[in-house]
Amino acid sequence: MGRGWSGSTGARKRTGGMTLPPAGAPANRPDRDRAAIPFPSHANRATNPYVRRRENRMIGMNHDFDLFVIGGGSAGVRLARIAAGHGARVGIAEDRHWGGTCVNIGCVPKKLMVMAAEYGLGATDARGFGWDMRAVAHDWPGFIAAKDREIGRLNGAYTGLLERAGATIFNARARFLGPHTLMVGEQHVTADRIAIATGGQPLRPAIPGADLAIVSDDAFHLPARPEHVVMVGGGYIAVEFAGILAGLGSKVDIVYRQPLPLRGFDPDLRAGLAEALAANGIGVHHGVEPVRIEAAGARRRLHLSNGHMIEADCVFFATGRAPNVAGLGLDKAGVTARPGGAIPIDEDYRTNVPHIFALGDVTDRLNLTPVATAEGHALADTLFGNRPRRISLANVASAVFSIPPLATVGVTEDAAPDGAKVFVARFTPMRHTLSGRARKTMMKLIVDAETDQVIGAHMLGEDAAEIMQGLAVAITAGATKADFDRTIGIHPTAAEEFVTLRTETRRVNRGGESAKPRAAE
Ligand SMILES: Cc1cc2nc3c(=O)[nH]c(=O)nc-3n(C[C@H](O)[C@H](O)[C@H](O)COP(=O)(O)OP(=O)(O)OC[C@H]3O[C@@H](n4cnc5c(N)ncnc54)[C@H](O)[C@@H]3O)c2cc1C
Repeated sequence: MGRGWSGSTGARKRTGGMTLPPAGAPANRPDRDRAAIPFPSHANRATNPYVRRRENRMIGMNHDFDLFVIGGGSAGVRLARIAAGHGARVGIAEDRHWGGTCVNIGCVPKKLMVMAAEYGLGATDARGFGWDMRAVAHDWPGFIAAKDREIGRLNGAYTGLLERAGATIFNARARFLGPHTLMVGEQHVTADRIAIATGGQPLRPAIPGADLAIVSDDAFHLPARPEHVVMVGGGYIAVEFAGILAGLGSKVDIVYRQPLPLRGFDPDLRAGLAEALAANGIGVHHGVEPVRIEAAGARRRLHLSNGHMIEADCVFFATGRAPNVAGLGLDKAGVTARPGGAIPIDEDYRTNVPHIFALGDVTDRLNLTPVATAEGHALADTLFGNRPRRISLANVASAVFSIPPLATVGVTEDAAPDGAKVFVARFTPMRHTLSGRARKTMMKLIVDAETDQVIGAHMLGEDAAEIMQGLAVAITAGATKADFDRTIGIHPTAAEEFVTLRTETRRVNRGGESAKPRAAE
C-alpha cells in the first residue's frame, strides 16, 4: 500500500461483542512510531452510539482514522477531543504548539501581558487612595519566564485532554497527498473524514524593509522590552499591544490608515479609544501608512506616507492576519480556497469536498477563540455524537483588551436600522475620581424602535469584557429595553449604568445626520 502503517490490517480487540481495531492507532505500524504516538484507550467506544452505528455499517473501516484533524489549536483540539469522546478513531497533528494561537501567541499570553501593564498603572493610581508607592520597576525577563511557565502548563493540559479522550496525537506537520490521504511528518495516514483547522498567521505589508519589523508572534518572546516602539495598524492587536507596552513603560507611537482605530466597531467606541490612547501618552498618527523601514544600527526608521519618519527601537506590524494554508496541498485534495487563502464552507463546515471540513480562523469568518471551539464542538457532535447542530454567529460578544478595555455585542450604531433608539452614558468611573487619571467610561445601548429589543450594547471602560458577557446572554435571549429598565442595578458599580439609561440620546437617522451625543458626565 506504500504507507508507513495501515488501520485495515493487524490485531483486533473485542469490545462488547464487536470487532474493533486496536485502540485508536493501527497495530502494524513500525516500532519506531510507537514511542512517538501514544496509544489511546477509547474507553467509551463500546457504549457510544456512533461506534455502534459505524460498526454495524462498517463505514470508515478502510481508513486509519474516522477523522483526522490538521491543527491543534482552539478549533482542532475541541473537535478531536469531543469526536474521540464520542468514540471515533481520531488522529490530530500539530506542528508548532498545542493549544494553537490563543494559548501560545494570542489571547492567553496577551491577557497576562495586559494584566502586567495594569498592575503598573494601578500602582500609580493607588497613590490617589493614600498608598505611599515608591518607584516601581518591572522585571521583563522575570515576567516572560513566569508567563512561559503558565503557557507550558497549558500545553500539557491540552495534550493530556486529547490523550485521555483517546485521540492519537502527532507532533508533526500534515499535508494532503489526496482526498483521503495525508503525509503527517514522515507517515502516510488515511482518514474517512479530514478537518482543516490550521488557523491564521500575521501579515506584513509589502514594503521595503518589512522584515526589519516584528509581528505579534515575536512580541511574546522579546528578550527585553523595547524602550520605543512604533505600532503599525489600527486593529485590536495593535491597540492591545500599544496599551501593554505603554503600560510597562515604553514610549509608544501608533500609526494607522483610518481616521480612528478599530474599523468595524461602534463609532463611539472608536472615538473613545482614540482619546484613551492619547491620554495614555501614546503618540497617535492616523490617516498615514508605512512606506519603508530602514535599519540604523540596532534602531529602525519607519518612513510614513505623509513624509514623516519615526525612529524607534522596534517597529511592530499588527497589520492583519491571513489563513494558514501554505504548503497544505489543498489542490491534491481538490479543496478550493479564496484568493487570500480562506477556505469557503457551508453551514456544516464542509468544504467543496464533502468529506473535508474546515473550521476556525482558516475560514476567516469570525476569528475568535470561542467561535473556533464552538465550531469544533458542533462538528464533533454532528459527525459522531448523533446530535447535528449549527452555531449561530449572530450576537457573538467580543472584547478588545486595550487599556482601558472595550467590549461589544450586537449591532453597531452604523449598522443599526433606521429609527433605532440610542442611549449613551459617558462618565468618570469611581476609581478615577480619586486616582486622578484622565479616563472616561462610555456605555451605549441600541434599541429597535419597533420591537423595543436591545440589539446592541457597547462599552469602553474598566471591566467592559466581564460586564458584556452577562449582557450578551440578555441580548441573545431577546431582552427588551423594558427588561433592562425593570432590572434593579448593583450599586455602586459601573455596570448599573446599563440598567439606568433612561434618556434617549438620539435616533439613528439614515436620511440625515444623527443628533450629536449629549455631553453626559
Ligand atoms: C495576538 C492575538 C491575540 C488574540 N486575542 C484574542 C482574544 O483575546 N480573544 C479571542 O477570542 N481571540 C483572540 N485571538 C484570536 C484567536 O487566537 C483565534 O481566533 C483562535 O486561536 C483560532 O483558533 P484556530 O483553531 O482556528 O487556529 P489556531 O489557534 O491558530 O490553531 C491552528 C493550529 O494549526 C497548526 N497548524 C497549521 N498548519 C498546520 C499543519 N499543516 N500541520 C499541523 N499543524 C498545523 C498551527 O501551528 C496552530 O497551532 C487572538 C489572536 C492573536 C494573534
